[in-house]
Amino acid sequence: MKETKGTIVKVSGPLVVANGMAGSKMYDVVRVGDQKLIGEVIRLEGDLASIQVYEETGGIGPGDPVYPTFEPLSVELGPGLIQAIYDGIQRPLNIIREQVGDYITRGIDIPGLDRKKRWHFKPEKKAGDKVKLGSVIGSVPETELVTQKIMVPPGISGEIVEIKEGDFTVTEPIARIKTDDEEKEIYMMQRWPVRRARPYQAKLPVSQPLPTGQRVIDTFFPIAKGGTACVPGPFGSGKTVIQHQFAKWSDADIIIFIGCGERGNEMTDVLLEFPKLTDPKSGQPLMKRTVLIANTSNMPVAAREASVYTGITIAEYFRDMGFSVALQADSTSRWAEAMREISGRLEEMPGEEGYPAYLSARIAEFYERAGSVRTLGDSDKTGSLSVIGSISPPGGDLSDAVVQATLRVVKVFWSLEDKLAFARHFPAISWLNSYSLYTDTVKDFFAEKVAKDFFDQAKAAMLLLEKEAELEEIIRLVGKDSLSPSDRLILEVARSIREDFLHQNAFHEIDTYTSLSKQSAMLDLILYFYEKAKDTMEKGADITDIEKLAVLERIARMKYIPENELEKIKKIKGEIDSELSKLTQTEEVK
Ligand code: ADP
Repeated sequence: MKETKGTIVKVSGPLVVANGMAGSKMYDVVRVGDQKLIGEVIRLEGDLASIQVYEETGGIGPGDPVYPTFEPLSVELGPGLIQAIYDGIQRPLNIIREQVGDYITRGIDIPGLDRKKRWHFKPEKKAGDKVKLGSVIGSVPETELVTQKIMVPPGISGEIVEIKEGDFTVTEPIARIKTDDEEKEIYMMQRWPVRRARPYQAKLPVSQPLPTGQRVIDTFFPIAKGGTACVPGPFGSGKTVIQHQFAKWSDADIIIFIGCGERGNEMTDVLLEFPKLTDPKSGQPLMKRTVLIANTSNMPVAAREASVYTGITIAEYFRDMGFSVALQADSTSRWAEAMREISGRLEEMPGEEGYPAYLSARIAEFYERAGSVRTLGDSDKTGSLSVIGSISPPGGDLSDAVVQATLRVVKVFWSLEDKLAFARHFPAISWLNSYSLYTDTVKDFFAEKVAKDFFDQAKAAMLLLEKEAELEEIIRLVGKDSLSPSDRLILEVARSIREDFLHQNAFHEIDTYTSLSKQSAMLDLILYFYEKAKDTMEKGADITDIEKLAVLERIARMKYIPENELEKIKKIKGEIDSELSKLTQTEEVK
């Protein structure tokens, strides 16, 4: 009989080396020690396996057994994912907490999907229909906000022999499919190895924006559906608020939030706060379309390493159903540090800053799993997975290896800066240091669906902000008096763009979200003011009078105009005209 047990020869923190492991493959799951701790093979040399263990290895030592499972680290996919709070290897933290309290008992074996709960399966195919991997055969209303599609699992294609309707657990058969050589039972649950991207028919070019309702993002640094972005988060810069705003307002059906424990209790905060958020569109708890993956800082580093893969695999699964999925990973720096620690224990040759040489490759592979795709199964089904990673370099240093590796692959950088937060400019995203490589990609969408000149207006506004930065430099050197009236007008308009447009109060009922049409109307109004004021100055009006116009206050308050009263923003143009014309009239009278 085949030897089914290895023996530990060395333990180094979360890393265990065992011999007698011939037959195991890379990334196979093993159970370590008598407590059967969960581990994964991350290096194989002959029958010697290096294993990263996802639980505390205290008390485990040489001579203890290791049991191979001959299966890769996989997640369970099916009804029950939504609203779940998982750890890095998909153990349901909320259920574990109910059963054993806050500290996870080692070796605990609770499956990712509840085995007892029954879900109502409604077929969307019938006996005789031909199906293949990815075909939707039915659906399950999972929460008020999400109806899961049940898809044919990998390795199966053929003709449906039987399909049932009714209440089933995830492991009871709901259909039978006749393949070339046999009949296979289909369940609502399927498994997928986390380190392998789920397949699709074709990657589609990204073309649509993923509006977030946050003006600085949508207008100036948009992310596309299926796109990638990264955001650094110095302490107190408003990262949590941005993340919540994004989860609540971005045009995504499903939110996957991966939290890798940062400082002390931070992850616990996420666990406490996220479940309190409300989905603004439905008024339901946001959790009803969210999957949370959390690593508190007392969990072993290896689990952190796995959590990003667990999260993105679950995200791909929802993408395959045809959803727009947004995945937020916070913070990928902690993930990279976990990689560094494991690599150090493997005694690999370190690369930059002690990170493994494959750091960039791993980061790139992760973000490459984002995208807009034509899914498998049904030819017209498309889905998208947008990925937003936060980074937290030590000391906020952007030359950090993780930041650099990330910036090489992501297309958007929202530069969240603590000095802006300190000046109470929220969201504290720098308009000068951020960028989006999607502005050209989404240009046509904006022109067709929002306003023909939206893109050009955003560009014009950005030019004014850049000019303001230059002028401020001049003021620092030679003082404000040296500025020409037209420069002073630029300063006034740039101030308005910053305060009236970029500033956005996440806690104000109306200001918290701005549609693209409202963003366009707001920007249009500010630029209209600029053009008209310029004309009026050419006719002799004084900049000092322009700076004092009452209509400026009306412009400042346009952000509080409700979405269904946008014509009120346009009407302010009339007030601009009449107030400015008075300035030249008095000129003439004089
Ligand atoms: P971090 O997570 O970076 O430590 P938070 O997201 O908790 O910071 O933000 C810190 C504080 O900044 C918040 O409590 C809030 O008062 C303020 N803040 C951040 N973003 C906004 C915003 N968009 N609108 C209004 N206030 C904000």
